[in-house]
Amino acid sequence: MIPAPDETHDPSALSWVESANHGTTDFPIQNLPFGVFRQRAGGRGHIAVAIGDSVLDLDQCATHGLLTTVSPSTIQACRADSLNELMSLDHRQRLALRKQIFRLLHADAEARVRDLLQKAVLDRFDLDLELPVKIGDYTDFYASVFHATNVGSMLRPNHALLPNYKWIPIGYHGRASSIVISGTGIRRPHGQIMAQGATTPGFAPSRRLDYELEVGLYVAVGNGLGSPVPIAQAEEKIFGLSLVNDWSARDIQSWEYQPLGPFLSKSFATTVSPWVVTLEALLPFRIPAFPRLPEDPAPLPYLDHEIDRRWGGIDLTVEASITTPKMREQKLSPYRLSQGSFREMYWTLAQLLTHHASNGCNLRPGDLLASGTVSGRAPESRGCLLELTWKGEQKIRLPTGEELGFLRDGDEVTLRGWCEGSGKARVGFGECKGRILPSFTEAAPS
Ligand code: CA
Repeated sequence: MIPAPDETHDPSALSWVESANHGTTDFPIQNLPFGVFRQRAGGRGHIAVAIGDSVLDLDQCATHGLLTTVSPSTIQACRADSLNELMSLDHRQRLALRKQIFRLLHADAEARVRDLLQKAVLDRFDLDLELPVKIGDYTDFYASVFHATNVGSMLRPNHALLPNYKWIPIGYHGRASSIVISGTGIRRPHGQIMAQGATTPGFAPSRRLDYELEVGLYVAVGNGLGSPVPIAQAEEKIFGLSLVNDWSARDIQSWEYQPLGPFLSKSFATTVSPWVVTLEALLPFRIPAFPRLPEDPAPLPYLDHEIDRRWGGIDLTVEASITTPKMREQKLSPYRLSQGSFREMYWTLAQLLTHHASNGCNLRPGDLLASGTVSGRAPESRGCLLELTWKGEQKIRLPTGEELGFLRDGDEVTLRGWCEGSGKARVGFGECKGRILPSFTEAAPS
């Protein structure tokens, strides 16, 4: 069943936290994304909800007895130092918590509640945001047909898209231990590289370092080992979405990827954004799944459901931008590399999750399933440098006159995402940012 909007989606609702009421904020009262922060002075991580330029500390809300309409297990989950327990609550409990937080932050909240909340509302810029989830497993898909076609045509000009693509969601198992929070420096990796024209590989720092603009879903209530997830129930198993940057070393990748897929070219680092935007917050932006061409095969029955066809897409705009050291020195604004939309993804989130569990593989609360590079039909929507520069052959001229092929040391990539539309409150994802550090062998001794 397609859920109906409720009071938390009312575009006219305002918060007593003033900064949440500016039309340009990513975090109005209709969003309420979850994250984890730590005070700069130290202490443990606290779960919070972003509201305008502030955060609401849920541990403090629990301490002051303000979580009055949620279950004891929800209160306990709000006092943890990661979102995993919250993610393992059932859908009804998560919805009750959203409604409770909405009422606490609403402009009509009682003065007594607002007084109690003063200590729980903190300036976001005074806090360190942490990895919000203990990610047990990470899987990366390849759900953009445009990305797959572009990359395929570089490798195989005559048959760009492999015959399995439109039948099966392609993915690989990624590495959870090297997932880092936005703002963490990314060390240029070493690896085996077969230079063009060479007959033997060498071991050297990557010279074709790239980003991939992706959207990731965090699993909510998982499924037991041996118990697949019917597609009609897949969305109940999704807690929410974040931005993901799947850093990729193209020169290492092209040598190592056959026959088992990417390995060390991807596992050195993956960056996630700090806020997890719930599916409930995205409800006003749900759209039909990407329309397949008449000649495309229909999905196999286990990946097909009427509700997913009508509702499986998300009208989510995503953008990547860059600054180089020279741009920062000259105080230039970030340069936009691409802007695309998640609506152009060939496979829906429900199809990715259902396919993942279809062999009985158990997904657990907090597992991360990333979409793969979000590239659309238009050249300006391509979500990585491999595509934007066509293997580095068509360099991008930056405002400083610098020519960008792949990433150089000091380059900083920022991903952003947001949903907006007339008669709807804008819902944003914040930033997912990372700066390239020199490789260990090239870093200046400190
Ligand atoms: Ca990827």
